[in-house]
Amino acid sequence: MANVLYRLENVWKVYTLSKTQEIPALQDINLEIYEKEYLVILGPSGSGKTTLLNLLGTLDFPTQGTIYFNEIKLSDLQPAELASFRTYYVGFIFQRYNLIQHLTALENVMLPMVFSGINAKTRKQRAISLLEKVGLKDRLNHLPSELSGGQQQRVAIARALANNPKVILADEPTANLDLVTGLKITNLLHDLSKDFGVTVINTTHDLKLIDVADRICWVDNGKIERIEKKMTVELTKEELPLEMVL
Ligand code: ADP
Ligand code: MG
Repeated sequence: MANVLYRLENVWKVYTLSKTQEIPALQDINLEIYEKEYLVILGPSGSGKTTLLNLLGTLDFPTQGTIYFNEIKLSDLQPAELASFRTYYVGFIFQRYNLIQHLTALENVMLPMVFSGINAKTRKQRAISLLEKVGLKDRLNHLPSELSGGQQQRVAIARALANNPKVILADEPTANLDLVTGLKITNLLHDLSKDFGVTVINTTHDLKLIDVADRICWVDNGKIERIEKKMTVELTKEELPLEMVL
């Protein structure tokens, strides 16, 4: 039985817009996320995917309920501990890549290692090695504006891996990319996460991008509808688009 990395117990997130308007973005979520698995959170726009990832990354906190990480309550962490948690344990990947525009690919990947106190020489060596792994050996000194969307997301993947995190939180990482590039990016993320032994939690609204998942968690309207293992989904391959079968 795999080890549990995250455990969510009766987690609610309610956004209060005004005295009369509340939006229950997450409603009574109960979920265990295992070490080293690739979990896809699949749901339509507005279903609560970003809200859920923000809670897992401690960018926000539940209105009610508890999130445990390695059996530690995230809501018990002090500000300095939260900063360390985000630096050492979590790698973030965003839909719009969120690279620093005036830094090169190499510098973007080195930056998280400044925060974790790794010396300059090691930072550079590790960043080069990560950029090689994502296929950007010959783009080290390019600025984000000199890279394609797919290449920028590759830099973001390398950056997310910089501090050897336990978990990567990827929020619709392929939503700005065409299907073929999106499939390449998800496959790369999948292969690297298995190489590094990192848990990946990847949100998407696109059924065509779930083939890499060990499990798929279907969300709608702030609730988990069902959780499926990959095996079940493979049985329905006939129904899926050709690109996924090839
Ligand atoms: P998804 O990422 O699946 O598109 P979100 O988590 O962004 O969904 O949003 C879930 C629901 O919460 C939506 O109805 C959205 O409008 C609402 N919501 C998200 N963020 C906020 C916020 N900061 N304030 C108020 N409502 C929000
Ligand atoms: Mg979202």
